[in-house]
Amino acid sequence: MSTTPLIEARGLRKAFGDNEVLKGVDLSADEGTATAIIGPSGSGKTTILRSLNVLEVPDSGTVRIADATVDFGDASVDRSTRRDEVEALRSHSGMVFQSHHLFPHKTVLQNLLEGPVQVQGREVDEATADARRLLEQVGLAGREDQYPSQLSGGQQQRVGIARALALNPEVVLFDEPTSALDPELVGEVLAVIRDLATSGWTLVIVTHEIRFARDVADQVLFLDAGVIAEQGGSEVLRDPQQERTKQFLRRVL
Ligand code: ADP
Repeated sequence: MSTTPLIEARGLRKAFGDNEVLKGVDLSADEGTATAIIGPSGSGKTTILRSLNVLEVPDSGTVRIADATVDFGDASVDRSTRRDEVEALRSHSGMVFQSHHLFPHKTVLQNLLEGPVQVQGREVDEATADARRLLEQVGLAGREDQYPSQLSGGQQQRVGIARALALNPEVVLFDEPTSALDPELVGEVLAVIRDLATSGWTLVIVTHEIRFARDVADQVLFLDAGVIAEQGGSEVLRDPQQERTKQFLRRVL
């Protein structure tokens, strides 16, 4: 049975000045799957991810998540329509950054309530109950009233993940979620992401953690110089077919 993918990007192009970073990238992902985007530094991985929630505006191509589509190449769309389209697209995803970007003067719970209550206008009591449940899910029950500075880097990043989930998005986007962490803190964050993958969340993860990607990803995209050079299931990482993928994996594994 074929289903419509939850995420579909077609023909994404993006240049920063003369630097053509994305050269026509297609990506699609089914609901409930984990997609890992891997590849050399500077190949455009983060730019793809940021294009999915329009933190970066592609020069052309389309992005669709669920029922929201933006056609970046369509210059006939007026500004206010485009703003609405972008907002609709963004409402379907939550983002976890390399560094957590928590509000330092707010408690863990207040950080989690900011989006649902201030942005989405949800009831405080209901959002609080959800936030507590999410904190439990990321192993931080009982930390509600602490401030980010009282937590380890791994715990802060887990709050960052809970905060993205608190918006109840269809898709969670991870931009190198462990690369700013001390090595001994990486495992606890990867364990939380692994847990989300097995519990049916749809995830797109830019990562340098190749073994993690091999274990967790349903789909692997190997990006090289702005094009997807190889894609498939985790066999891309076990038994790569393309020379570029082989070389990359030899360097990093
Ligand atoms: P990766 O995530 O694979 O390391 P990125 O998507 O971060 O790659 O970056 C790809 C290229 O785009 C790099 O050459 C980077 O310097 C450039 N780049 C990314 N963001 C910007 C920006 N905002 N302005 C100018 N150049 C950028």
